[in-house]
Amino acid sequence: MYLKKIELHGFKSFADRTEIEFEPGINAIVGPNGSGKSNITDAIRWVLGEQSIKTLRGSKLEDVIFAGSQKRKPMGMAEVSIVLDNSDYLLPLEYSEVCITRRTFRSGESEFYLNKLPCRLKDIQELFMDTGIGKDGYSIISQGEVDEFLMARPEERRLIFEETAGIMKYKVRKKEAERK
Ligand code: ATP
Ligand code: MG
Repeated sequence: MYLKKIELHGFKSFADRTEIEFEPGINAIVGPNGSGKSNITDAIRWVLGEQSIKTLRGSKLEDVIFAGSQKRKPMGMAEVSIVLDNSDYLLPLEYSEVCITRRTFRSGESEFYLNKLPCRLKDIQELFMDTGIGKDGYSIISQGEVDEFLMARPEERRLIFEETAGIMKYKVRKKEAERK
């Protein structure tokens, strides 16, 4: 599985609809300071269901929506889609390509879509659980996270190993079953 494409529209600095295609292997995004490189990783976290404004480097929900510039009016909606190549069927779906979309308006509500069909945030979270890719997966490692892992207490480190080993899914389901 690999990230094939990301499409941004109204997300942070990406007012115009922007499509970026990736190839298997290593891809690099380069550009001057403030040109939007980190906004692209924020978009990936966001579409995977990130709910923490702080992690997305904002101070309020609306900060993911294009806020306007000298020449351009603010936008009312932000939308991000990612297309994943799933030809190895690592994601348990019968599709060789999986498209995930998240859309939000200034009112704050988010809509999620899986291959263009509306779904819940929970469906996205479950789909990625134990793949190492979800919002809490280790496919996105930011600067501070390396330090965090090194400084973590043994119990915290154990959680990281559990997610990586693929048993988190069962722990979450057990907890849910116990609550019912
Ligand atoms: P660096 O090399 O310094 O890490 P970068 O390429 O990672 O830079 P980003 O942090 O992705 O840059 O982009 C920052 C830019 O995005 C800033 O100019 C900021 O004004 C703009 N930006 C962030 N949120 C919004 C928003 N909601 N609307 C418009 N612009 C935004
Ligand atoms: Mg940056």
